[in-house]
Amino acid sequence: MTHPPRDMPAEPAVTADALLRKAVDQLAAAGIGEANLDARLLLQAATGLDRAGLMRDPDALVGAEAQVRLAALIARRAAGEPVSRILGQKGFWSLDLLVTADVLDPRPDTETLIEAAIVALAGRLREPLRVLDLGTGSGALLCAMLVELPNARGIGVDLSADAVELARRNLQGCGLSARAEIVVGSWFEPVSGRFDLILSNPPYIPSSDIAGLDREVRDHDPRLALDGGADGLDAYRILAQGLPDHLKPDGLAILEFGAGQDSDVAKLMTAAGLKVRAFRRDLGGHVRAILVGLG
Ligand code: GLN
Repeated sequence: MTHPPRDMPAEPAVTADALLRKAVDQLAAAGIGEANLDARLLLQAATGLDRAGLMRDPDALVGAEAQVRLAALIARRAAGEPVSRILGQKGFWSLDLLVTADVLDPRPDTETLIEAAIVALAGRLREPLRVLDLGTGSGALLCAMLVELPNARGIGVDLSADAVELARRNLQGCGLSARAEIVVGSWFEPVSGRFDLILSNPPYIPSSDIAGLDREVRDHDPRLALDGGADGLDAYRILAQGLPDHLKPDGLAILEFGAGQDSDVAKLMTAAGLKVRAFRRDLGGHVRAILVGLG
């Protein structure tokens, strides 16, 4: 017999572990920092194996089709596309959210705002609070907050109709549609009344810094979600103007900001008559969020 049987796959099956090691090497060679984690997540997606399955049976054979799928996923990651975008989903807080090119990739740093809210609202977590999320994007902050406040109702606002569409799907996926609505608009413009809690992770990168961001951010997060104007603070000027009319007397706003912006953001809030209650650090130790209230 000189020829292989007809049904032999073009590429013979190889073990999951061998594929994983090759994928890690390819990503590391492409300069991807989290090569191990990213390679494993993409291998799981290509093969349908879960993490436990991979650990239990690293010698599981992976067929030709899954190998081809993996090669395509690795090529996308090596070219700078974030894993979350390749997979179309990202974990945030306790939730699995859908993500697309229309929204900022939810980041662990932003979970700082949820932690801060839970601490600040201790004792009120079961009240029927009114929550607003300005620039909701994927809906990450609103979804996580409403999961933690089981009797609260919320509104998410975003300028991007595509983001609004996605945030609605995420609310639905989290079983929260009955307690929240997402509307298209600019900051406070489409909302009325006062809120117990206002959250925002606005764009805060100074325009001229955007070209120097990591390619995962610069090339894949929407500019609308990043660009905070010349000094990065445009959104906080608008927020400072609107918060006094939209917070309840004992209401709280929790806003994310970028590196080194704490005192500038605090000054804008104070100048608008708001009281700075506290700052919060993220897991990396950076001052990441400000808590403000009325008077
Ligand atoms: N945290 C993001 C970054 O530094 C920016 C998000 C934002 O502007 N809100 O890449």
